[in-house]
Amino acid sequence: MNQDTPVIELKGVGEKTQKLLEKLNIRTVGNLLSAYPRDYEVFGEPVKVSEASAGTVCAVYGAVSGIPNERRVRKLSILNVNIADSSGSLQLTFYNMPFLKKTLRQGGFYIFRGLVQTRGASRIMEQPKIFSREDYAKLTDRLVPRYSLTKGLTNQSLQKYVKQALSFYEFGPEYFSEDLLEEARLVSEREALETVHFPQNHDSLVQARRRLVFDEFFSFLFLMRKNKEFSDGLASNYRLLETADTVRFLEQLPFPLTRAQQKVWQEIKDDVGSARCMNRLVQGDVGSGKTIVAVLALLMTAANGYQGALMAPTEVLAMQHFETIQDYVKQYDLIFRPVLLVGSMSAKEKREAYGRIASGEANLIIGTHALIQEKVQYKALALVVTDEQHRFGVRQREHLAEKGENPHILVMSATPIPRTLAIILYGDLHISVIDELPANRLPIKNCVVNTGYRPKAYRFIAGQVEQGRQVYVICPQVEGDSEDAEGGAPLENVVDYTEKLKSALPAGVQVAYLHGKMRPADKNRIMEQFASRKIDVLVSTTVIEVGINVPNATVMMVENAERFGLAQLHQLRGRVGRGEHQSYCIFISASEKEESMERLQILNKSNDGFFIASEDLKLRGPGELFGIRQSGEFSFRIGDIYSDASVLKQASKAVDRILSEDPGLEKPANLLLKQHLEAAAGNHVDFRSI
Ligand code: ADP
Ligand code: MG
Repeated sequence: MNQDTPVIELKGVGEKTQKLLEKLNIRTVGNLLSAYPRDYEVFGEPVKVSEASAGTVCAVYGAVSGIPNERRVRKLSILNVNIADSSGSLQLTFYNMPFLKKTLRQGGFYIFRGLVQTRGASRIMEQPKIFSREDYAKLTDRLVPRYSLTKGLTNQSLQKYVKQALSFYEFGPEYFSEDLLEEARLVSEREALETVHFPQNHDSLVQARRRLVFDEFFSFLFLMRKNKEFSDGLASNYRLLETADTVRFLEQLPFPLTRAQQKVWQEIKDDVGSARCMNRLVQGDVGSGKTIVAVLALLMTAANGYQGALMAPTEVLAMQHFETIQDYVKQYDLIFRPVLLVGSMSAKEKREAYGRIASGEANLIIGTHALIQEKVQYKALALVVTDEQHRFGVRQREHLAEKGENPHILVMSATPIPRTLAIILYGDLHISVIDELPANRLPIKNCVVNTGYRPKAYRFIAGQVEQGRQVYVICPQVEGDSEDAEGGAPLENVVDYTEKLKSALPAGVQVAYLHGKMRPADKNRIMEQFASRKIDVLVSTTVIEVGINVPNATVMMVENAERFGLAQLHQLRGRVGRGEHQSYCIFISASEKEESMERLQILNKSNDGFFIASEDLKLRGPGELFGIRQSGEFSFRIGDIYSDASVLKQASKAVDRILSEDPGLEKPANLLLKQHLEAAAGNHVDFRSI
């Protein structure tokens, strides 16, 4: 059994399970082994009833006191049971488990484990699991892996498949040298994989994870260095000169560029006017005005008689850019002849677009990654701008080079990465920073509250809509029970929440929803309706996190804010405060844990993305194993560029050293490493970028 073995060859996996696994992107044994646990459940020693604090999952050992009391609310059976020990008593609530009335004897002792919550002045434990003392003792202090699941697939069965895969897997020989293993304190790949799935203890898990993170960063950085070698040497086919078009556009804009925008615009002009291809990253916090800088560069390209392309990570964002540009063309009489190219267009529409691109009639092409597919032939592509996207990688570069193009590349990103890390992660790019917001902005007003605040929030939202403003509401899930929320507060979902809001808000308020599982055309339609104010309140998952610009929206409300990374919440917040109106952000936390409130308070303190990322890092500390993922932009499977920054630096050093000693990995000692990296480049499409 190796990494390419299809999962169906595992015992117990039939066609049905195969389909379910596929939903989790698990097709091969290799995929299965790198579907690392989301987190681990720790079965701690039982605590006294009086010590079961709200917001935590814990186990208590107590006796059933009094007779269980069953109520029925429509079809739902609600069973309340009181338990007690010498320190106090606690109410347990079970849903749809009426049979427990008989099983739980009055006076019987059991261990109950579940989430403790407050109800008014008292505490309750909802839907706890019940154990005998002996059974529980077998579990104590073990780390039980919890995987990301899909309906129909249990955590237990996934554990079984992983166990089986591990025992039959033929691990290859070690590809890192002895020296490197020692220097970076790395365990073997085998030990790492076995431990990450079934850890014996916390310390060995830390070591295992370290190896996997190192591997991931190492391959990424290695391929990126190759990218740099490739693109640094590229001579420019397109030396662009400034024309009257950009000057006139700037004069007509209703606002002056900020000092930071001017500086970056100058850097871009210097790049594209030189003898080498531009490879530049423009980093700027949400709302700092990156789009206009991109538009200027594209305009200069068109004015020089060439084509430019603007590539966005989602169709929604691509459509928005297309509309913004069309407005500019009308308003300022720009020379753009734009064309849109996205996956959801019909074959006929696409053919038409291809035709206009090939003939050169279109001088600005806006779209998703469809832009660099084989069928697209450009007349003279001189500039590619990628917005809010992963880097523009070797593969994409090569793809264009094969078509005879070597365009200038401009990458726009709002991910706040400290400079020391940016230099490593974007080592193949020159970096510009827009470190200033336009002057006309009112700072966003924030509040971090619990779910009890909802009625007040709804009244506030209704008031804003009445004044003509618009509102975003974010929920972590698309539909009910797609993921179990065990150990945490219940998760809100977009579909049900929309209904809830419709009945909570006044009748005239238009509420609609948007999520990633909808058809692209439907998503586009909803987004257009929101942009043209036909929708007042948009309930959405984080699909609207990047780039969307509707300046009339003034409220961002996030449900289950405790489930999101701070950097992500900051991105979400960036969707408001983009216009002249005072904007507001309401973070609703359903968790009663003190830490999660404290963490969210950081957002209250600052509107600065860099500050937030660094505070978050301090708070989480290196001890945290599987934090909430911070950086959407780098889709590492396991590594987190913030909390694993030290491993990242170590991997970067190792790559530098190996490349300086043996740039082509031709020495016999590096043969296995070379094979490994070649396989990684093929398999880890997850580095999307490369
Ligand atoms: P981001 O950097 O997040 O991509 P955008 O480019 O979408 O931000 O800009 C956000 C809003 O700010 C847009 O409505 C844009 O027109 C406006 N804007 C950009 N630059 C300036 C400026 N110098 N002064 C005032 N408003 C600006
Ligand atoms: Mg943007």
